[in-house]
Amino acid sequence: MKIALISDIHGNLEAFHAVLHDIDAAGVDHLVCLGDIVGYGADPAACLDLVRERQPRVIVQGNHDAYAADERDLDAFNPLAAAATIWTRQQLGEERRQWLRDLPLHGYIEPDVMLVHASPSDPGAWEYLRFLADGALALADQPTRYCFFGHTHVPMAFRHDGERVDQLIESEYDASEGDHWLVNVGSVGQPRDGDWRAAWTLFDHDAQRIELRRIEYDIETCMLKIVGAGLPERLAERLTKGR
Ligand code: ZN
Repeated sequence: MKIALISDIHGNLEAFHAVLHDIDAAGVDHLVCLGDIVGYGADPAACLDLVRERQPRVIVQGNHDAYAADERDLDAFNPLAAAATIWTRQQLGEERRQWLRDLPLHGYIEPDVMLVHASPSDPGAWEYLRFLADGALALADQPTRYCFFGHTHVPMAFRHDGERVDQLIESEYDASEGDHWLVNVGSVGQPRDGDWRAAWTLFDHDAQRIELRRIEYDIETCMLKIVGAGLPERLAERLTKGR
């Protein structure tokens, strides 16, 4: 069974189209969406509609989805994220916001494959798993052999082999090794690992192979839309740097 995992689309329709094209070319059995469909980008409604049209087997809620879905206080967000969230709320309409509200915080696509946006420890606490110590703590709570997440927009893997935890940054992993894997699938619409290209992850469950894929997309159009929508210009500029 081949599973395509996408996360952190963030309203970037150009990147999402490019990723879906590559997923279709790869030929997968299931699509999984790890949240943050909206926020930052200029096409939150179109991205949300396209996710629904593609009928992923599992969709979990991200923090930007949760904040765009209701009128909660934005104190936890930096000014850029807060400005984008207020704008996004206006774009979505009540039906889409209700759909976002109803998304679960975690799911499973196989009994041994857990799916979350931020962390398997406490998915609604929106922790950022960046460093080895973060991954080691989260792996201690992970109930399954595999868990895939997003949230930091930095693709990487934490591997536990029974004695030690390693933090790995590769484009391909032999997932038959080790006891537990906690894998960040990268971001479709706002990568932050210094590479501007859209990211998604292919997990071949039978072959136990995990592959990170990077795809170029029409970033100029995407940036023009962000500026044209009246969103902060920094949200367009950061896309070129992958930060
Ligand atoms: Zn995000």
